Amino acid sequence: MKKNYFMVCERCGRRLERLKEGSAQGLRCADCGWSVVTTHISGIKVDETKYEVSCGGDYKNEAHIRAVSEVTGYNF
Ligand SMILES: [Zn+2]
Repeated sequence: MKKNYFMVCERCGRRLERLKEGSAQGLRCADCGWSVVTTHISGIKVDETKYEVSCGGDYKNEAHIRAVSEVTGYNF
């Protein structure tokens, strides 16, 4: 038989539900509004790995050059 465990509110003793809004995460009581939150920073924002991105295309094709210009932020 599988048991379900859940945390209870410090204030009223009712069940807490997970909270995730933007960069905040935590637990919230739906009955009295008590909550405990912490900052959630997604892995992609703290990733310090250096990546190298390259693309292939025809340097004589205007659409290709414009696409590269737009992505890199360099003038066409
Ligand atoms: Zn509560």
